[in-house]
Amino acid sequence: MSRTGEFQIIDRFFTHDAFGEWQSQGVGDDCAIIDTGAGRIAVTTDMMAVGTHFLPTARPEDIGWKALAVNLSDLAAAGASPRAFFLSIGLPERDDAWLEGFSRGLMALAAETGCALLGGDTTRTADVNGTRAPVTISITAMGALPAGKGLMRKGARPGDDIWVSGTVGDAYAALKHRWGHWQLMPDAAEALFARMDRPTPRLALGSALLDLATACSDISDGLRADLGHILERSGVGADLRWEAVPISPALRSLSVKAQQEAALSGGDDYELVFTAPESARLRIEQAGLLTDTRLTRIGKVTEGITGDNLTVRTESGAVVSTAVGGFDHFAG
Ligand code: ADP
Ligand code: MG
Repeated sequence: MSRTGEFQIIDRFFTHDAFGEWQSQGVGDDCAIIDTGAGRIAVTTDMMAVGTHFLPTARPEDIGWKALAVNLSDLAAAGASPRAFFLSIGLPERDDAWLEGFSRGLMALAAETGCALLGGDTTRTADVNGTRAPVTISITAMGALPAGKGLMRKGARPGDDIWVSGTVGDAYAALKHRWGHWQLMPDAAEALFARMDRPTPRLALGSALLDLATACSDISDGLRADLGHILERSGVGADLRWEAVPISPALRSLSVKAQQEAALSGGDDYELVFTAPESARLRIEQAGLLTDTRLTRIGKVTEGITGDNLTVRTESGAVVSTAVGGFDHFAG
């Protein structure tokens, strides 16, 4: 898979040979997995700007919740249990009503997941040439892992099942509706807005998969793109059955073409996509029941081939083609 935009920048400018005493088991993964000498931790960081990652009209409570949720989702992808986070925030002005809402949403999820805010930084972002600087939020989250364990994107093997949690495509459909590109019925829109605004990091599932999954990623860039990262890291391919891909009733109200675009190329789901051998099927189904998470088998890992290594087919055998998609800040 060719590397474009944001990944090209990372490859070219921010990838180097390891040095120092702390190394990561999962460079380029959802989290860095680090053996500290006093235990294994997973660390992830995500930066967001209002206007780029959030609509300017987003509610501050939802921004606070989601800013932490996307980080916890990366911890979930590593199978780590959240312990602490750091918050750096840049504000163009002091707006106490906004901060009140933001911190309420943020701390609600923090309390729910036992993830303590242990530090951060607060700065003013200056306007440039009369252009209002956006609110920027950077969160670094850390989680605990049992010694020697941790899910990574590498490790998928030919013959493995491919599983996905929850349903995919909902947040993207909500965004398309808010942009005015797609028309959803009011009930469907409500259901999808909740998925876009308040994603649920699959933390319990991630932990439950530690001894079961061969590879795992969260879905932030879209199923095709994030499963693509697993395939690339693992040196394998995949065949998916379109009809097996879990779609919510709300998304089903749209055309099949829109469903395919949303479910395969849309991002922001914060579900987990993972691989596991057939022998683990029963235990994975049990993990789904125990963690109250819907799990669906959507295809198989195949031997790697060069070029397009991910094929989605309908029951009739037709290839479903959508853009690899995934959001890339510097694509094109
Ligand atoms: P995710 O969507 O899971 O948060 P990203 O797509 O943001 O992951 O990043 C892909 C990988 O590249 C991650 O392992 C991340 O830590 C790494 N990465 C991203 N930006 C940088 C950077 N500026 N310097 C070093 N590593 C980076
Ligand atoms: Mg991720």
